[in-house]
Amino acid sequence: MVMKEPRKGVLGLHLSAESERAVRAALEAAGCRYTAQRGAVFGFLEHARNHPTAEEVYRVVRRAMPRISLATVYKALEALVAAGLATKLTNGDGSARYDCRGEDHYHLRDVSTGEIHDLPVAFDRELLSKLDPALVARLAADGFEVTGYRLEVLGRFAK
Ligand SMILES: [Zn+2]
Repeated sequence: MVMKEPRKGVLGLHLSAESERAVRAALEAAGCRYTAQRGAVFGFLEHARNHPTAEEVYRVVRRAMPRISLATVYKALEALVAAGLATKLTNGDGSARYDCRGEDHYHLRDVSTGEIHDLPVAFDRELLSKLDPALVARLAADGFEVTGYRLEVLGRFAK
């Protein structure tokens, strides 16, 4: 028989019952179906520390679900993003990485490899007004409501 469920406890793909309920509810609220594959993709993303690409998610999830396709992984990731369970981090070259850490945080990007890591520093809600105390008000006067900001530190790791 072909295994349809992820092997429990393997690769961090298994969701707790509580986690599965939360993922299911968020997907359904966004008009997306919950499937075992989507659960497994979320389970991997939740434990991944390196903001994987869709291909990296596919390589790992496939070990537990050999019949999953790359297209299914892409659709699962898009559904998780639509449900607010993950964030898509796009790059200028069209590549994308995925993050399911919910709270605001900063990133570091290795420009040689494209890898993204979380920056070990607290998020500063006041950073924009530190750049310019009048900035948010000036943007509001132009009809632009600030809802947040992103910060990415660029560089490369020594070989
Ligand atoms: Zn992150």
